Amino acid sequence: MRTPYIAGNWKMHKTRAEAKDLARELVRTLDREAKKVMIAPAFTALGSVKTCLEGSHILLGAQNMGSEEQGAHTGEVSVLMLKDLGVDVVILGHSERRHKYGEPDELINRKVELALSHGLDVVLCVGETLEQRESGVTTKTVEEQMRRDLEGVAEEGLAKVTIAYEPVWAIGTGRTATPKDADDTHRFIRDLMSRMYSAKAADAMVIQYGGSVKPNNAAELMGMENIDGLLVGGASLTADSFVPIVRYDAGG
Ligand code: PEP
Repeated sequence: MRTPYIAGNWKMHKTRAEAKDLARELVRTLDREAKKVMIAPAFTALGSVKTCLEGSHILLGAQNMGSEEQGAHTGEVSVLMLKDLGVDVVILGHSERRHKYGEPDELINRKVELALSHGLDVVLCVGETLEQRESGVTTKTVEEQMRRDLEGVAEEGLAKVTIAYEPVWAIGTGRTATPKDADDTHRFIRDLMSRMYSAKAADAMVIQYGGSVKPNNAAELMGMENIDGLLVGGASLTADSFVPIVRYDAGG
């Protein structure tokens, strides 16, 4: 039985004060939900948000992480620093990291292995661009990303990994994959997990969908057989839109 997992990626938004206000509101409204909930503020607000989450079951996520434990890496934030702040989960391979900042799979793989070796949970994002979708290479693209990003990760490590399928053309664009299209790719990912690991690992794997999720499409997406959770960007920035998504309550 896979526990529904809804995550909010706040991207490069919110000062510490704004982040704390939203975190407090989410703790007040969501703490009794029987779902896994994670919020990922910017690095600068992680410490402040952590204080709001004390005693709550909402998890604290980071949006990225350096690929080395420490050293001369100007501008990077290490796994040790994230652990020190009380971070539970790190989002890796987000399409904005891949496509705007040129992160290759080899780098993402190093980050995945490093995060897992330090006991952090990982949300690993995969997904195709519009060009790749239109040239019919969606599953090939996703398979390559999964195989490269998870290289060296043993089956025991998978308990700490969530896959987020995020078609790049649906992120922040208002275009959502149809629930059926999304579910088809999720099924492909689950079958791939079975080929890469085992049927047991595939069955246990939580696969989130991300890409213009809103209160009015969350319920339909979550109703699909292979969609176990949602990774939400824009609509996670206010309680008014994130809370009904977590509750899959289209009426708000
Ligand atoms: C994301 O940032 O992972 C995302 C899916 O963004 P949005 O919900 O805004 O499309």
